[in-house]
Amino acid sequence: MATLKKKFSILHWVVIIYLIAAFSWWAILLYKKNETNYQLQKQLAAYDISFDKAEIESSYRKQKNMIISEGAVFGISILFGLLLINRAYKSELRLNQRLNDFLLSITHELKTPIASLQLVNKTLQRDGLSEDKRKDLLKTGWDESVRLESQVNNILAAAQIEQAYKFNFEKTNLYELAKSRVKRFQKMFPERTIEIIGTENSYAAVDPESIHRVIDNLIHNALKYSAQDTSVKLSVKSQDGKIAIKINDQGSGIPLSERKKIWDKFYRIGNEETREQPGTGLGLWIAKQIVSAHKGKIKYLPNQPQGSTFLITLSTAS
Ligand code: ADP
Repeated sequence: MATLKKKFSILHWVVIIYLIAAFSWWAILLYKKNETNYQLQKQLAAYDISFDKAEIESSYRKQKNMIISEGAVFGISILFGLLLINRAYKSELRLNQRLNDFLLSITHELKTPIASLQLVNKTLQRDGLSEDKRKDLLKTGWDESVRLESQVNNILAAAQIEQAYKFNFEKTNLYELAKSRVKRFQKMFPERTIEIIGTENSYAAVDPESIHRVIDNLIHNALKYSAQDTSVKLSVKSQDGKIAIKINDQGSGIPLSERKKIWDKFYRIGNEETREQPGTGLGLWIAKQIVSAHKGKIKYLPNQPQGSTFLITLSTAS
């Protein structure tokens, strides 16, 4: 695959260089022909007075200007066209690479919890397990099923968004909705601290299921990309006709050069060798699509002294 890509890239550059060289050669040839023609006409005019020298001069200048200006327009058009083709080709390659990464990670993401659940089930069938061991296994089984559920939900959500998902907007208290998600994550990750503050009556017209998905994805990321001993904080505030939902962590943060790309479908920072956390690169893309469908905004803000804040802004419902 990599060598095929390299071969294609070399071929692509050979074609581009050939096109530029061929065009330059034709332009120089035309220019030279005009010069030779002009010199010949000048020589003829020296012997034959019926030749109009002024007309020869004017025709020569006209042709010269035409070759230069049309050549420039044509050259710029070719370069511009090549640049567009090159960009489309590179973005296609990037998308293919991400799709490949996605298929690899999703296979892993789905197979691991399934294998783990099978193992838990098999072990639970054994006789003589202590109560502690049984509880431990049940907790592992629960965690794995939650992980599986979250991945399957994200894949379904991505497919639904692509198929023009119909949002059912209804007046919803976003503070209560966020609080219920915090409670669920706190139950799932009792070793972590997840807090929520804000305006208790923060009503907006939203599709509750989708906004719940956005909040889940952001809380999950905040937990995933920060250390165990740090906390995750949510705030839901209603002010001046707007509701601001912030999800804040003290993790690694996102470098400036990556902040635009993280919203792309399947995009994950780093590569398969360097990534420590599992994922599919769908979470932030889904969040962005859903918030945009609500005519809201979602953005990344660096956190002080370290970490990330994701800010969602939506209009309040009257
Ligand atoms: P993933 O399944 O990889 O988590 P996302 O679309 O949710 O996909 O996120 C895209 C990338 O953005 C992640 O791979 C990660 O590198 C980065 N990212 C997202 N949230 C955070 C965060 N809270 N802290 C640091 N990096 C983050």
